[in-house]
Amino acid sequence: MAEEIKETQAPAAENTAAPAARGERPARGFGGKKRFEIRRKVCKVCAEKMDNVDYKNFQFVKSFTMESGKILSRRITGTCAKHQRQITKAIKRDRNLAILPYSLPKK
Ligand SMILES: [Zn+2]
Repeated sequence: MAEEIKETQAPAAENTAAPAARGERPARGFGGKKRFEIRRKVCKVCAEKMDNVDYKNFQFVKSFTMESGKILSRRITGTCAKHQRQITKAIKRDRNLAILPYSLPKK
């Protein structure tokens, strides 16, 4: 519920702010606000040309989890939808086999 409200309010606020400023915004040169270029995230699985994510390849699968054992979201890792589904399956399988932890205590 809270997220829905945020999403509906955000675009409205942008429109009221300054519709003219959007088009007149100068191109960013050197010394702009953004220090780093926005890099397109590439799916790790696609990049390595693996056709399937295997639960036995747990070291690779582990790279898609947080230290606490949580599965990292697609937004963060940049994996494609198809492979994210395979990764979540592999992680859950590994958890059940006690290869990966369900959770680890916070330090
Ligand atoms: Zn992929």
